[in-house]
Amino acid sequence: MRVPFMDLSKIHKPIRAEITEAINEVVNKGDFILGGKVGEFEKEFSAYCGCKFGIGVSSGTDAIFLAVKALGIGPGDEVLVPANTFIATALGVTFAGAAPILVDADPLNYNINLENIEKKITAKTKAIIPVHLYGQPVAMDRISALATKHGLKVIEDACQAHGAAYKGKKTGSFGDIGCFSFYPAKNLGAFGDGGMVVTNDENLYNKIRILRAYGSEKKYVHDEIGYNMRLDTMHAAVLSVKLKYLDSWNEQRNAAAKKYDELLRGTEFGIFQTVRDAYHVYHLYVIRSRRRDELSKYLGENGIGTTIHYPIPIHKTGAYKYLGHKDGDFPVVDKFSGEIISLPMFPGITDEEIEYVARTLKNFK
Ligand SMILES: *Cc1c(COP(=O)(O)O)cnc(C)c1O
Repeated sequence: MRVPFMDLSKIHKPIRAEITEAINEVVNKGDFILGGKVGEFEKEFSAYCGCKFGIGVSSGTDAIFLAVKALGIGPGDEVLVPANTFIATALGVTFAGAAPILVDADPLNYNINLENIEKKITAKTKAIIPVHLYGQPVAMDRISALATKHGLKVIEDACQAHGAAYKGKKTGSFGDIGCFSFYPAKNLGAFGDGGMVVTNDENLYNKIRILRAYGSEKKYVHDEIGYNMRLDTMHAAVLSVKLKYLDSWNEQRNAAAKKYDELLRGTEFGIFQTVRDAYHVYHLYVIRSRRRDELSKYLGENGIGTTIHYPIPIHKTGAYKYLGHKDGDFPVVDKFSGEIISLPMFPGITDEEIEYVARTLKNFK
């Protein structure tokens, strides 16, 4: 048996006609840049998240950058970021000229360690970016309480958590700003790069809308330095079709994860706990093994696709070497980055496939 790490054809095949029709409509209209579909999808997606406003942007990275920028954060400011996240969370802060300050992970769920946040707050700290890593919501009431106590802004990195919820409220709707990526492999993915910023703050909405389009509200009137960071109309059309299926795809991911949990509980492999009161949408299903590299090779030889999210933590990348951290500064991330491995996870993965992966894991000698 072969089980790929991911198989997008499983979700695209059944809705191919619908997607083709949506693309054709954009071609027929010819409104490729900020066309009608962008505004429609902004409304649909922000409403889905429980937010008043949405701004379609060019990627998740750009969403984070524009969020930091719109909050007036820049040189001399510090922004708290988890040490285990995709590098883009930190890049968004860096692009704005501010400094990302890393916080170690919680060993139970691998999200940002809530106990370590306060120690990292200084007079320069302006914001915190909780990342709903792997699709698992951060306990946002704790983040909001810390933010209120210290006067910090909250930018949620929900790039892996479309449709996830904490205490019944969707991720992206807790902070001042929520950021999403529509990179093809995400729970809601475009046919290329794309992203969205969501907010309930009309002032931030207007700022980000202007920043994403050359700093202009009215065509050829440029009152500030802006960027070209727009969501393409073609992607908005595809995403609008796919959004209708997101909840059912997330349910399938959630059910697959429950099955993995069941089959792997009590084995030598480390399983992460789910945060209480959270609806986890399992962008990734990650386990731990002390012999990770051997395991990865073994699974590959048995036809099972895996990847690692992420093998090199931010503080050990060449890009962020300048932060001056050393081994042991983030004990949980330093240890776990050598142990984590992401198993096959996608809507449409069958029980037989999950059973094969679990059986193969149990036969690992
Ligand atoms: C994918 C991702 C991003 C960046 O999104 P892009 O659309 O690839 O730029 C940021 N943060 C996290 C946690 C991600 O998984």
